[in-house]
Parts: sequence; structure tokens; C-alpha cells
Amino acid sequence: MAEIVPVNFEVHPEEALDRALKGELSAAEKHTLNRHLATCRACEAHLAVARSWQETCAPKPWNGCLNGLAVDQALAHFGVSRWWAFLPAGPEA
Ligand SMILES: [Zn+2]
Repeated sequence: MAEIVPVNFEVHPEEALDRALKGELSAAEKHTLNRHLATCRACEAHLAVARSWQETCAPKPWNGCLNGLAVDQALAHFGVSRWWAFLPAGPEA
């Protein structure tokens, strides 16, 4: 059975919020944090904004393509080609 941790409603659980964003809370800690969030709009809003930023800033499948285009544009600007693209592939490739 999960340990029930008492909630101090006078203090915002900043460490628990940070660990929740990292997905590191135990079931008991999640329960305790949820009890706090049910009564604290500041922490609820903080968590919602932070999760939104995490989702916005998460790597996207198209990032590699855009990075490649940026490298190509920068190299073209300086008149340089991707010389390493002509190297034979190694055994791990
Ligand atoms: Zn709070």
C-alpha cells in the first residue's frame, strides 16, 4: 500500500512540481501533489504552463531535416560543400 504523505498547504511543493515534470514521482508523491493541486491554483497553473512549454520545446521529427537545411544554407553561404558526405560509410552505418 502506498505511503500517504501529509500535505502542508502553506508551502508550495516546488521540488515535487519539478519532479512531476520529470516524471519522477512515486504514486504516494503524486497523490500528495494532487491533493495540493486541488486547492492551489498557483501550482496548478505553474504545472500547466510548464507542461505546455515541455511539449512546445520537445524535439520534433522534422528538426533533423530543418537542421540539415540550415547547415546546407550556411555552407552554401561560405561556398563550402559537405565534404564528409562523400566519405565511405563506416561499419556501423
Ligand atoms: Zn501551491
